[in-house]
Amino acid sequence: MPIATNDMNAFSKGQPSHHHNLWRKLLRMLSLTRERELTCSEAQELMDSYVELELAGENPQTILPEVAQHLRICPECREEHDALLKILKMDEG
Ligand SMILES: [Zn+2]
Repeated sequence: MPIATNDMNAFSKGQPSHHHNLWRKLLRMLSLTRERELTCSEAQELMDSYVELELAGENPQTILPEVAQHLRICPECREEHDALLKILKMDEG
């Protein structure tokens, strides 16, 4: 019998199916990264999720504070973020 945490249920309930993989990935990453700073590769692994949340009108700073924090201190990842945001925005239109 698999153990589903309350967190997991809260996250997946009411989310459009499009988001299921995203949330699963986020939860997996967050469980690895809570309470410490991200490395660049960890930040970049979360970057597409972060940007997707941004484009969806969510609050990535609240949902992924670790990434937001990393973006504040790491110009390299900030550049990566800006580039990704630009690409995905173009995709949308
Ligand atoms: Zn970085």
